[in-house]
Amino acid sequence: MSHPIIVWFRNDLRLHDNAALHAACIQNRPIIAVFVFDEQQFTQTSLGFDRMGKHRWNYWQKTVQAFQTQLQQMGGDLLVFKGNTVETLTTLYHHYRCQAIVAHHEFAHEEIGIENALKQQVNLELVWGNMLFAPGTIPMPTEVSPFYYTAFKNKVTALKSVFPETASPSDIRFMEVDQASLPIKSYALQNVESEFEAGEINALHHLHQYVQSPHLQEYQHQREMLFGHENASTRLSPFLATGALSPNRIFNQLAAIVPQDDDTLASITKLKEQLIWRDYYRWLFLRYDKNIFRKTGLRTIVPMMHNDQEAFNQWRLGQTDEPLINALMTELNQTGWMSNRGRMIAAYYLAKVLKVNWLWGAQWFESQLIDYDACNNYGNWAYQSGTGTDSRINRRFNIDKQIQKFDPEKKHLR
Ligand code: FAD
Repeated sequence: MSHPIIVWFRNDLRLHDNAALHAACIQNRPIIAVFVFDEQQFTQTSLGFDRMGKHRWNYWQKTVQAFQTQLQQMGGDLLVFKGNTVETLTTLYHHYRCQAIVAHHEFAHEEIGIENALKQQVNLELVWGNMLFAPGTIPMPTEVSPFYYTAFKNKVTALKSVFPETASPSDIRFMEVDQASLPIKSYALQNVESEFEAGEINALHHLHQYVQSPHLQEYQHQREMLFGHENASTRLSPFLATGALSPNRIFNQLAAIVPQDDDTLASITKLKEQLIWRDYYRWLFLRYDKNIFRKTGLRTIVPMMHNDQEAFNQWRLGQTDEPLINALMTELNQTGWMSNRGRMIAAYYLAKVLKVNWLWGAQWFESQLIDYDACNNYGNWAYQSGTGTDSRINRRFNIDKQIQKFDPEKKHLR
């Protein structure tokens, strides 16, 4: 009997450009596809709210369900569990006498901790993917990754200009697994409501529509509007956070466009730069590891911040003295979404105006955002609070000017 391989899906729920799936398929062994909702995600924070709020939880369930359906239509399945990831995978590994577990590397210390614990139990093969400039695809050791974004962007773009995708498997040789005989109980996904589209098929469709629409041309001017039309920015982040879409695919679709005017060219350049921010924070995590999660972040001298629970709750619930902050937090709490500019202003206000511990704000965003991504969230929070990689750690926003510029008709406020 040929020993099977477990493909452990994480933030990579797709078939296209999936390096881990590809690495497993080329070994020509039966595949068992597994996804685990890790129990750590379902704890309460010390501040008294769920780590995984309902918007994000619903969005993830919808994504996992979409991917499970895709695999079932190919004659296979995605086994879904909720519990301790290391124990779940180790049990399956031994029960099915597997050859290996294959997965993508992650970047934040909690996820890396799970990988390290799993390595003690099984043959774990980790591959890089889910990035434009993955380690190994450019000659740059993680220890020397530039601290500031502009230096990072200049360095990596000089080292790599094409973004080849790993081939999508035309046929996956799934191992037949009888759900009734599983050594541990699987998790039954619930049919949930989420106003945001989820899953690979929707992601590819959304990308295709967006790059062909006039919105692309407007991106550079519209992307930060607080009350933009739905396509003011690409809204690709929920697909990227769940891995339903590969960043290489976005880059390649943008590269295929011949810009007909300066605005389109400038918008494409801007959008590529935004995607490079995503890689930048991953490299920052690889270099600085859990230092980013300290109250002082990557700095020694930082703006004063207190553990003021009352001010924090007013901010979190949209009950401050500042109407714009209240509008932004209401939007987040009701939908699981906030624009990039909104996130910048809300984070600035908590850390530099209310002078409350920025880590608390980052935890609230983690709970609420449907596109929550550890590196993007904590990296950006550190940046805005003056504990990260902003070269001007005392930068301040004038809220009235922000409204004039990004919500001139005050539609968002209303
Ligand atoms: P677009 O403008 O269309 O950008 C396209 C893609 O580029 C995004 O999907 C994202 O992958 C990447 N990108 C854009 N801006 C940034 C940025 N500043 N940093 C890193 N990548 C970027 N993004 C998340 O994906 N998850 C988070 O948890 C998250 N938390 C944030 C917290 C704060 C305090 C701030 C200021 C920003 C945060 N961001 C986060 C970054 C950014 O706000 C979102 O990526 C963006 O708003 C998503 O909308 P979009 O896909 O329409 O963006």
